[in-house]
Amino acid sequence: MQVLRMRIIMHVDLDAFFAACEERERPELKGLPVVIGHDPEKGKGRGVVSTANYKAREYGIHSGMPISKAYSLCPAAAFLPVNFPLYYRVAEGVMKILRKHADKFQQISIDEAFIDISSAESFEKAAEAAARIKQEIETTENVTCSIGIGPNKLIAKTASDFQKPQGLTIIKPEEAQAFLSALPSRKLYGVGEKTDKALKELGIETIGDIANFDVQMLQSMFGRWGTELHFLAQGLDESEVEESEGIQSVGRNHRCNSGRPGCNSC
Ligand SMILES: [Mg+2]
Repeated sequence: MQVLRMRIIMHVDLDAFFAACEERERPELKGLPVVIGHDPEKGKGRGVVSTANYKAREYGIHSGMPISKAYSLCPAAAFLPVNFPLYYRVAEGVMKILRKHADKFQQISIDEAFIDISSAESFEKAAEAAARIKQEIETTENVTCSIGIGPNKLIAKTASDFQKPQGLTIIKPEEAQAFLSALPSRKLYGVGEKTDKALKELGIETIGDIANFDVQMLQSMFGRWGTELHFLAQGLDESEVEESEGIQSVGRNHRCNSGRPGCNSC
């Protein structure tokens, strides 16, 4: 008889990554609000914020916001252009560390990866590994991350978003349903602004509401995506961590919760 091994999946998400890379290179930025994106040109600039560090977020600045708005919220912030070569270099160092700890490794964006760590055999051991990984990333690459651990990719990714920055959230299989249920519907994998608005019109506020909603009604509203939504809201996700080199294109279920393409601020 085949014994099914419990899956333990970790999702690692670097904190305010672009800004963190700049802070690492320029110690004079320490403690300052840092905004990465287009030149604000003293409030007249066009374009948007790519990433804001946590200090800048205290002023209400967030990614996707017009840079002119960010400037009006905090003219004293350090505004820096995007420097991809630097971010790729730092990310490569981080991913090398993650790969070393993984049974299976899958990078899904410049600053996010899944690792299958089922060989740890318990969530306690996986949590210890996560603490070591966080330490190693900080010591070696001088950036921080948030980690979520769960029985599948869906729960792990949702968990890494739960406490940021520098969070470590562990959701055991028996806790998964309750953990998800209480979260706002917008926090479910793949639910962007548009879907969330439609859900709100159905009176849906939480992921639990989606799970309890009539699946056929969701189907008639959203087509196949409605069925998938209902499935995901139960905390179900069978997808494997797919071994990969470099950044893979990602399916609709594995995009950033914010719904913003290329979001690096989560
Ligand atoms: Mg991130």
